[in-house]
Amino acid sequence: MVKELIPEPKSKFLKVKCLDCNSEQIVFGCAATVIKCEACGRVIAEPTGGKTRFKTKIVTVL
Ligand SMILES: [Zn+2]
Repeated sequence: MVKELIPEPKSKFLKVKCLDCNSEQIVFGCAATVIKCEACGRVIAEPTGGKTRFKTKIVTVL
């Protein structure tokens, strides 16, 4: 069997912008824990079965 190639690497960093306070921060793309805004504490991303669900605006993928 040919090993399937995963188009998106599991480990990547994203720059996200908080919807509440507009502060930008770099977050890990597959976080195992809830990520909160450094400035206001808003939940930015939460883990959902191996993937990370982002609850804010992704500015760019690094
Ligand atoms: Zn914030």
